[in-house]
Amino acid sequence: MSVKDNLNMIHEQIKSHVNLNEGHTVPNVIAVTKYVTIERAKEAYDAGIRHFGENRVEGFLQKKAALPDDVTMHFIGSLQSRKVKDVIDEIDYLHALDRISLAKEISKRATHTIKCFVQVNVSGEASKHGVAVDQLIPFIKELELYDHIEVVGLMTMAPFTEDEDELKSIFNQLKMKRDEVQALNLSYAPCSELSMGMSNDYTIAVEAGATFVRIGTRLVGKEE
Ligand SMILES: *Cc1c(COP(=O)(O)O)cnc(C)c1O
Repeated sequence: MSVKDNLNMIHEQIKSHVNLNEGHTVPNVIAVTKYVTIERAKEAYDAGIRHFGENRVEGFLQKKAALPDDVTMHFIGSLQSRKVKDVIDEIDYLHALDRISLAKEISKRATHTIKCFVQVNVSGEASKHGVAVDQLIPFIKELELYDHIEVVGLMTMAPFTEDEDELKSIFNQLKMKRDEVQALNLSYAPCSELSMGMSNDYTIAVEAGATFVRIGTRLVGKEE
């Protein structure tokens, strides 16, 4: 399938699932290109996509260098502190701020403000990265100490399951937390965005109010 056809299908799905009457907006689609070649990423660009996501430093830098300048680059994976200096100034949005040591390294190395999503481990699975739900508010308050970080929103990865009620519950919890942080009115944490939804669960995330969906397999495919 061409990226264009996949994108049209995804836009149709988003349109039919977004709850505009609840004040939600149509989410941005981030093309996750970690499984595909530079050529396929360029095909996505030609199909009109301008948001790109990668989860490894090498792939991120390669794709950014190969794509035109008017793209917005999202680093969606867990970022090791020792690699921050190699990549931080190339990042527009970091989706996986999950520990104070990372915030500290960013504030030391970045020369511009990095738009960050705090990753939250809503499902509580041991295998998942992210701040525990009950630690989120203290974590965000502590971020005040670090420069160059703007908390634009919250991000989560849902478990790999077909259980729609479980997915709904996870995305709704993230939204409630987002509203709670937003209500704190912290200058460094406007926290208006929700990064949630991947190939298998994005329609449910959109219903719950996602503002960014991160789609790889369904949009650009997955090469072995
Ligand atoms: C790989 C990845 C995605 C995209 O996954 P698909 O299931 O291929 O859509 C989204 N978010 C993160 C954090 C990822 O690592």
